[in-house]
Amino acid sequence: MRTAYQYKLRPNKQQIATIEMWLELLRRQYNYRLGERFSWWSENRCPVNACPLVMPIPQLRDHPDYYSQKKDLVNTKDKFPEYKLIYSQVCQDCIKRVKLAFDRWFKANKNGHKLGKPRFKGKGRYRSFTYPQIKQNCIKENHINLPKIGKVKLIQHRPIPEGFIIKTVTISRKADGYYVTLSLEDKSVPTFNSDVKPTAENTLGIDMGLKDFLVTSDGESVPIPQYYHSSQKRLKTLQKRLSRKKKGSKRWLKAVKAVAKQQKKVADRRKDFHFKTANELLSKAEVIAHENLNIKGLAKTHLSKSINDAGWGQFLTILTVKAGNAGQKTIAVNPKNTSQDCSNCGEKVPKELNIRTHSCLHCGIVIDRDLNAAINIKNRAVGHSVLKARGVRRGTGTTKREAHTIALV
Ligand SMILES: [Zn+2]
Repeated sequence: MRTAYQYKLRPNKQQIATIEMWLELLRRQYNYRLGERFSWWSENRCPVNACPLVMPIPQLRDHPDYYSQKKDLVNTKDKFPEYKLIYSQVCQDCIKRVKLAFDRWFKANKNGHKLGKPRFKGKGRYRSFTYPQIKQNCIKENHINLPKIGKVKLIQHRPIPEGFIIKTVTISRKADGYYVTLSLEDKSVPTFNSDVKPTAENTLGIDMGLKDFLVTSDGESVPIPQYYHSSQKRLKTLQKRLSRKKKGSKRWLKAVKAVAKQQKKVADRRKDFHFKTANELLSKAEVIAHENLNIKGLAKTHLSKSINDAGWGQFLTILTVKAGNAGQKTIAVNPKNTSQDCSNCGEKVPKELNIRTHSCLHCGIVIDRDLNAAINIKNRAVGHSVLKARGVRRGTGTTKREAHTIALV
């Protein structure tokens, strides 16, 4: 099973300069290799019926491919020694991107669809680079050790799930800073191709919220455990205490340790709760449908600071792994308007966040707001006829996620 985790980076000035230099050099390298392939293509392409039989055929140049271009990196480094500053596997990955862009282009042509021809990248348009391999212990104490860049501070808002190994590391520049994406793999869990078909009988929809941890389409709710709040409160107290200590002092160090310990405790309890909840759900239905939570988008909202921050992402990972192990399945559905649409008739019933009841003017049904959402989620996974006929409606654009954000402000 493969998954990806993304964390925000906090590089220092020097590290930013290095990352930016690499991105610019890799951009040029990418364009150069792309050009190499294009020019071979235009020089050597010759339709069968136009083959110059009488003319002496010019010596064919070697077709530049992934291997020849990778080998040729030595020449690049010779001519432009600054390329030696880049970790060599990162350079090789750039060549691979050229190959992938070309492969995609040809593949598309074969199928009759014309997909985009690979494009040269303008200044600033080359935004990421990848380490195709990395040491497993590269992350330590909120720092990631990147070859030839050094230890870069990162904000690890959730731990790497147990049993997973880091396959690749990608550094990318975004509008609000730099990010690292870890591609993770758990070999003990084969990517399970469950052929369980979601039906009205074997599927359970879950709506994840802030009031309750989740509500199922059967109307059951799983509350956020009480002890969770209390240990969170304790953490806040300890953090306050820490802020009053003189930085670097003995008492300060002691307080730092106390905070770290409590943080671990909170995380452990949460994980335990997630495992229990996942087991319970999977004992009730073969297929569990949930909203497709865009973790990336989530991280940018206030929600990331909520008590549930790492919660849903970790919970869904656990649920999916457990389902796969048991030959069961999870399905992520489009979260758009799950709380606004009527689960009974499909009509849209706009409602503010403080309205906790779904009461439909069109068909008269009156049910709990979260239950309505959970049923919608289930229906979307099953392909309920009401929704199939109407499709996913365009509306106010108030998705569940945004709604939660408003609730927290
Ligand atoms: Zn209705």
